[in-house]
Amino acid sequence: MNEKKRILTGDRPTGKLHIGHLMGSLQNRVRLQDEYDEYVVIANIQALTDNFENPKKVRENIEELLCDYYAAGIDFNKATVFIQSEVPAIHEIFMYISNFATVQQVAHNPTIKTEIAQKGLENSTPLGFFIYPVHQAADIFCVNADLVPVGKDQAPMIEDSRILARKFNNTYGVKLLHEPEALFGTEVNVPGIDGNSKMGKSLNNCIFLSDSEEELRKKVFQVYTDPARVHATDPGKIEGNVAFMYHDLFNGNKEEVEKMKDLYRKGEIKDVEVKERLFEVMNEYLKPIRERRIEAEGMKDELMVKAFEGSKKVQVIAEGIVEQMKEAMELRFGNR
Ligand code: ATP
Ligand code: MG
Repeated sequence: MNEKKRILTGDRPTGKLHIGHLMGSLQNRVRLQDEYDEYVVIANIQALTDNFENPKKVRENIEELLCDYYAAGIDFNKATVFIQSEVPAIHEIFMYISNFATVQQVAHNPTIKTEIAQKGLENSTPLGFFIYPVHQAADIFCVNADLVPVGKDQAPMIEDSRILARKFNNTYGVKLLHEPEALFGTEVNVPGIDGNSKMGKSLNNCIFLSDSEEELRKKVFQVYTDPARVHATDPGKIEGNVAFMYHDLFNGNKEEVEKMKDLYRKGEIKDVEVKERLFEVMNEYLKPIRERRIEAEGMKDELMVKAFEGSKKVQVIAEGIVEQMKEAMELRFGNR
């Protein structure tokens, strides 16, 4: 019997993965793929909720995700990567748990609120998009996951999933659905190069894992710093300064970072010096990932086969959960 605890995590195939994904979630997935029974969902149905007019984009980005996973170090023989639309049992679970979520609860979800505003959907929010937090809970329950490595923007979603599991179990007097715990890779979302508090695939402010050295250099030199600082001799601000936030994430030499911060505050170091050093440390960090990304380009078919096999495996697990849910809800008939 497999005693390992389970992980469920994943991404929407809406674009290539960026350093926010790497730091927020991917690194934890790689670190824990031996210790846990790990499942990684390519959430193409959830990607369609705000991209339904552009199915080609969602379809094409599945391959990009597979390459990014390989590049980041996900081992397809250890973690089970699967495609959401190949596991229809998720929709069944979704329907059963949706009775335990309220419209008001979703409407108050701060991440959903921000996303609706960012996407300009205030007066035309597709119902599918609105209910995605509940559908995402169904992803977690479809393998009865214990741990969910995600970025900080997903905190309210995981909290809501815990409530849903508890309500389902309490209502039907069962101990079926696990209350998942969130695992955050960073204390706050990784900010965009434009200073936005979240780097996001759909926000055009990303450093992608697939960016070349030249692209990385160009983007690092565009990174938002302290807009009030005109001359290198002006005292600079560290708070909200994205260059220093990236240094904190990528520069292993903490002493050097603290020294640069100190000089910056006193107006004794130029932005360009901070960025030149940032480019060096980020490039060193991302180089092996970039190289594996190129290797993955030639493995797309192989990785896709793995994802199909993974989907079949997950559908079987999910059908088992569905049967237990139906049993609890008096939905079994005849000798079934
Ligand atoms: P989209 O803009 O299309 O929603 P996204 O960049 O938000 O794309 P998702 O696929 O929605 O990416 O999220 C996948 C995972 O990556 C989630 O766990 C999310 O919390 C995490 N993540 C996304 N952006 C960041 C970020 N800037 N910092 C940390 N984690 C992030
Ligand atoms: Mg998102």
